[in-house]
Amino acid sequence: MYLKLNDLSFQYDDQQLIHSFSCAIEKGSITAVLGSSGSGKSTLLRLICGLEKPIEGSMTLDQKVMFDNAHFTEAHCRQIGLVFQDYALFPHLTVRKNIEYGVRKSSVLRKKEIVDRLLKMVELTQDADKYPSQCSGGMQQRVAIARALANEPKLLLLDEPFSNLDQQLKDRMRILMKQWFKEQGVTVIIVTHDQQDAAMLADQIIVLGA
Ligand code: ADP
Ligand code: MG
Repeated sequence: MYLKLNDLSFQYDDQQLIHSFSCAIEKGSITAVLGSSGSGKSTLLRLICGLEKPIEGSMTLDQKVMFDNAHFTEAHCRQIGLVFQDYALFPHLTVRKNIEYGVRKSSVLRKKEIVDRLLKMVELTQDADKYPSQCSGGMQQRVAIARALANEPKLLLLDEPFSNLDQQLKDRMRILMKQWFKEQGVTVIIVTHDQQDAAMLADQIIVLGA
């Protein structure tokens, strides 16, 4: 298995939030983790990408240990992309520069090639010079996804990606995202409280706290 989480547990202060969570994820698949508000979805993503330390459990990604009793790989060394619920774009950078920020070290020409391809994929070529404040919520989300993909992550995590979109846009984005992720062959975990998101997008559905 490409990603394995074994008996992951976590607590804030004295409140245990994640209880012995385990899952196995295949390369190139889309997994939805379903849970109600406050069930620990965002925390689970923070644990997977290394922004929090679990109290117990282990994780391997692409056969490398990310954490266990003896190891903890820092977030910036994990090659895991996280798209926050509020997108967290850089307000002082244009759409193009936001996406370019995600590109790992490469030549100027190659960088441009990668960014142009991603801009085209997310249908933002015409908007490349706009700033986030000039973009709609849906556009901002596409920038955030393109920025995360620019880094060629081994794993892409999305926190409630549809919660800020209206119904019509939501339906369209679900279809487009599935298309992009399959096209890029990227392995994805989406956390959501919406069963419909999970049903429409995911190859595998895991219920948090079940
Ligand atoms: P979800 O994303 O499913 O809504 P979260 O993972 O954000 O859930 O939070 C789950 C619970 O953990 C909530 O009760 C929340 O108040 C608590 N929590 C989240 N972050 C912190 C923190 N930094 N310190 C203490 N408690 C927190
Ligand atoms: Mg959350």
